[in-house]
Amino acid sequence: MRPSSFPCTRRRVLGAGLAGTAVAVAGCATPAGSARPRVVVVGGGWGGLGAARTLARGGKAQVTLVEPNGGFMSCPLSAHYIAGWQPASDFQRSYDGVDRAGIERVRERVQSIDRAGSAVVTAGGKRIGYDFLVLSPGIEYMEEAITGYAQAREQLPVGFRAFEQIAVREQVDRFLAKGGNFVISVPAPPSRCPPAPYERAFLIAEQMRRKGVKGKIVLLDASPAPLPPPIAKPLLNGIKNVYAAEIDYIPNAGLTAVDIGRRVLTTAMGDVPFTEANLVLPQRAPALIRQAGLGERFAAVKLPSFQSQADEKIYVIGDSAGVPLPKSGHVAFGTGVQVAQDILRRIDGKPAPAPGGMVALPAGICWAAVTHDQAAMINVAATLTPGEPPKLAFQVDPEHNAASGKGSMEWGRQMWGNMLG
Ligand SMILES: Cc1cc2nc3c(=O)[nH]c(=O)nc-3n(C[C@H](O)[C@H](O)[C@H](O)COP(=O)(O)OP(=O)(O)OC[C@H]3O[C@@H](n4cnc5c(N)ncnc54)[C@H](O)[C@@H]3O)c2cc1C
Repeated sequence: MRPSSFPCTRRRVLGAGLAGTAVAVAGCATPAGSARPRVVVVGGGWGGLGAARTLARGGKAQVTLVEPNGGFMSCPLSAHYIAGWQPASDFQRSYDGVDRAGIERVRERVQSIDRAGSAVVTAGGKRIGYDFLVLSPGIEYMEEAITGYAQAREQLPVGFRAFEQIAVREQVDRFLAKGGNFVISVPAPPSRCPPAPYERAFLIAEQMRRKGVKGKIVLLDASPAPLPPPIAKPLLNGIKNVYAAEIDYIPNAGLTAVDIGRRVLTTAMGDVPFTEANLVLPQRAPALIRQAGLGERFAAVKLPSFQSQADEKIYVIGDSAGVPLPKSGHVAFGTGVQVAQDILRRIDGKPAPAPGGMVALPAGICWAAVTHDQAAMINVAATLTPGEPPKLAFQVDPEHNAASGKGSMEWGRQMWGNMLG
């Protein structure tokens, strides 16, 4: 048994008698004349694209990307669109470069994973077999955590997944036209991009000031201060020193219920009325992961490999993975590249040896825009020593500045280029 090498499952061999007959292939390196190992990547976001592009470049695997959206829209930097500073097109890209890279793209949603049969099954009933599976489907909202949210879903979009930002922008436009109370809630960790709800509040507040809108942005934080602690300083600086007139910040105000009829939110600090509300809900990995027995709230993976603890053919990356790293696109992309390289080594029959000492885990950069042209940079490096939990080292701009504002847009363009070609 070679647990970290190519799993040597039954797979199609070109020219093997009856067309399409599955033939058991012995040995772990791809035998001459056989089909290339099949790698299925679920999710064409930050993590999935990192994996699919790297695998395609390796030239040793047949790569299939399963993604229901016909194009890509970035969550990072999209506050600039939501608050009306930039057009949506600045944050959207086509999948043409993915297609040109020789990746087979299936525009469907994966409904279930048949681990025993090594196949994913799409909502349209398509069965796609794999030798290796990379899961990067992002997050699902825990709607049941907020009483009444399911009934209010259409009117209160979260906008923390691709393309949902368009519905949040409509709410912001209504608010900027009429004024009133715009409530933004911040969930307790772990959640996707912790600075993002504050950044949204800042860029909308900047528009309020510019347009002379009468009203308030009410920021309901489930925690006593922005978390994790290293990011608190620049965010509290934005709340207290830049937007004191526009933002009411209420810490320890975990959200428990929404009454969409009366337009009132119930929180640990009392009831809060709203004209518009952007409720950022608590999050977990999509149901697909739990139903396949790969973890509870998030997927259980081994570090540093990101291989599932339950299944050596499966890797779970990005925000679906239950690891103490920031839920960031930068980390997701880097992890996609890393697991693709691991798979390519396993295809060659040369799996990576277990680390003998400290190793670096994928690093992340998050941006917190405080004005439309000034941001704070949050840099996170992570290391793992065998037998110990990962160690994180934060480097954070204590205040926002123009260099980080410019840097954030350059970072976005560079990352989207790496992901989408
Ligand atoms: C407002 C905001 C600001 C952010 N700012 C930053 C930042 O500055 N820097 C940073 O690094 N990160 C930032 N992030 C975080 C970043 O967006 C996420 O960490 C990143 O998107 C995670 O990548 P992922 O691959 O796990 O998920 P995603 O990028 O969400 O990709 C998941 C993909 O899977 C698809 N999918 C879902 N279910 C299925 C299924 N069943 N079958 C097939 N496909 C499926 C989805 O359609 C989606 O395309 C921000 C996030 C938000 C919301």
